This record gives sequence, structure tokens and C-alpha cells, in this order.
Amino acid sequence: MDDCETCDSAGVPGIGTLPWDIGATTEALIRRVDSGRMRELRHDVPLEDMIALLESDLKYTIVSFVECLDCGRVLFWGLCIRGNPILRHADRTEIDRRRWSEVPPRRRWARS
Ligand SMILES: [Zn+2]
Repeated sequence: MDDCETCDSAGVPGIGTLPWDIGATTEALIRRVDSGRMRELRHDVPLEDMIALLESDLKYTIVSFVECLDCGRVLFWGLCIRGNPILRHADRTEIDRRRWSEVPPRRRWARS
């Protein structure tokens, strides 16, 4: 990514072949939302719930689109049961074009 301190520092590199540290990057995004530097636009589940859902193995991909309020671009944060996490900038139109799939009932995967 490029030229935006807020976006560039959100992705925390993973260990070995993992491009991003899932927990630390999710946490970094949450901190930016909490501090008003980013805002969640649309998602399968809120950032706070992504890892619990991932660990349940109930949904193959879990996606969140987050807007950076510093540079105005949209970040795509995507987790996948059997693939690498993806963090990248996305075109806004991708949000509506995406085939959103159903999220399993919260009681089946939520931690609390
Ligand atoms: Zn940015």
C-alpha cells in the first residue's frame, strides 16, 4: 500500500509465509475505528467478531470493508479458513458487487 500512514500501519506482517498477522491486524483496524481514523462500511461480521467466526470453521471467507478517514480509500480485510488473509485497498463499488453469503447464527460461534 502507499502514502497513507493510517492504512500503511494497519497491516501487521505475519510469521513465515503468512502475509499478515490475523489477530494483530484485526486489532490494529479495531483501534483505528475506535480512534475515529477509520470506519466500518460493510462486513460479514464486525471486526471484533471476525476471529471467533474464523476459528469456528463455519464460514469459508469473512470479509470487512473499512474506510480510511485519513485518505478516503477503502480497505478490504478478508479472512479465509484455508487461505492467507488479504489486506488491500478496494474500489468502493466492490462492496455492492460482492456476493455476500449468509453468516451462521451468532450463537453457534460467538465467544460470549
Ligand atoms: Zn488511508
